[in-house]
Amino acid sequence: MSPGVAVGRAVIVRFGGMRAFRRAVSPTALDEEEKRLRRSARRAAEDFRQQSRAVSGEMGSELAAILDAHAMIASDETFLSAILERMRRERVNPEWALAAVSGEFEQRLAASDSSGMRERAADISHVSREIAQHLSGGARSLPQELPRGSILVADELSPLDAARLDPRRVRALALERGGPTSHASIIARSFGLPAVVGIAGLCEAVSPERPIIVDGERGIVEPTPSKERLRKGLLRVRESRERTRRLRARTAGVACTKDGSRVILRANLELLEEIGALERCHAEGIGLFRSEFLYLQTAPQTPGVEQQREAYERLLEAARPHSVVVRTYDLGGEKGIGPARGENPALGLRGLRYCLAYPEIFDAQLTALCLASRRGELKILLPMVTTLAELRAARQHLEAAARGAGLEKPPPLGVMIEVPSAALLADRFAAGVEFFSIGTNDLAQYALAVDRANPDVSSLYRPLHPAILRMIKSVVEAGVSLQKPVAVCGELASDPVGIGVLIGLGIRELSVTPVAIAGVKDSLSTIDSARARILAEKALEAGEASEVERLFKSVC
Ligand code: PEP
Ligand code: MG
Repeated sequence: MSPGVAVGRAVIVRFGGMRAFRRAVSPTALDEEEKRLRRSARRAAEDFRQQSRAVSGEMGSELAAILDAHAMIASDETFLSAILERMRRERVNPEWALAAVSGEFEQRLAASDSSGMRERAADISHVSREIAQHLSGGARSLPQELPRGSILVADELSPLDAARLDPRRVRALALERGGPTSHASIIARSFGLPAVVGIAGLCEAVSPERPIIVDGERGIVEPTPSKERLRKGLLRVRESRERTRRLRARTAGVACTKDGSRVILRANLELLEEIGALERCHAEGIGLFRSEFLYLQTAPQTPGVEQQREAYERLLEAARPHSVVVRTYDLGGEKGIGPARGENPALGLRGLRYCLAYPEIFDAQLTALCLASRRGELKILLPMVTTLAELRAARQHLEAAARGAGLEKPPPLGVMIEVPSAALLADRFAAGVEFFSIGTNDLAQYALAVDRANPDVSSLYRPLHPAILRMIKSVVEAGVSLQKPVAVCGELASDPVGIGVLIGLGIRELSVTPVAIAGVKDSLSTIDSARARILAEKALEAGEASEVERLFKSVC
């Protein structure tokens, strides 16, 4: 989603999925077909780069970064080799092999419960479609000249098609596919366009003749509004413009509550391509780098020491003078990255458990981190820690890596608190770490026994459940007593009610997705920390998440 409200006439476009035909290719024709694939991939990469140059600049730099990432995928040897391999093995045409390989990549990624991973599935699909377009030499489907003031209603919007939009002509976006962190949402936000995404059946529900309302604040589209609704919609357009102006003015300032209590606000990053967002959002460094995403580029192998070191150094460079927290691989489990075995991978060999089971992978990563740590303030964060023995073992690996890298002492080490056992033993963990970061996404999953990716139980997934608040409180207390900083890096840190609760519980460090930073600053500015503390005391006595929400909704 992207905030703002718009009223306008819909232009409906179906970009559609990828279609492919299968043709047998004789061994003698294979070379020529391979050349055709490489030529098309080169042209697609060039398209992405050209559009990236065209949109770069203050407003479009986030979109430019996405397009550069797409150019990298289009020229990625692993991706192309997989297609070529399929062509040779099955003696098929590049169109078919491309659709098959990209379909497999997409399926693997789309099954993940991480929104970042699902977004990578969309990346592969957009890149593949562009290559397919060059293979067929066909024309594209986006009408170049949209009428001024139109609302683009589409099944989905690729970054490349978005780059070709003229934001002066488009008033808002409404899409059938995409989530809050999808690229379409990011693009809409960087263009300052209201957007609502993920509304199934929208293209059918909207009539091109009539005005519609897109309300990016509430996440709704009104496809057939009455006259009265239209009048109200236009009033909301005015209000939302006011709010946008306020938010823009707030982005550059430091984060603090209404009564001046300072909050450190860092960014969660998944890809190196997102580095540009740090400066634009005025993040105070990186509070969580999900390093397992590096693995995607080299899968099924993990990246080498040098490749990782270079990546971590780039992060440190971009975050200076602030720090960078790199989380060691959160592989395995249900994330869809890396191997996952067993009926219940979320309870299996995931995160630190995986790294300790495959020490050569862990040691290579720790060595790269130690080497890079000479370039800035780097901290290392361990995911999915459940026992003190795991922490001790990880520390031994880190100390050995630090010695090997010639460091006098290793970089600061922290644990993620995302499992109840670690939350409840936080006072014991505190002695062995330099900092904590609470991962509320998993803490809610494991504390409430609710699979975070299973829609059947999504109504039970309540990170504001009082049981979780009690755990957060015990971590804060453990941190205070041994003077170890405690941050929160789960999605709760960007939820307006969640922010109030966290401040009330004594949290003063948050790490959120870059696009959420301005909104978090805005929410913080409305919270009185003394009042939040009193409400948090009450919330800790509540029996249900809904009571906590009710308590805080009046102030957040
Ligand atoms: C979390 O669990 O809250 C977290 C930040 O990590 P991830 O979402 O990557 O599991
Ligand atoms: Mg987690």
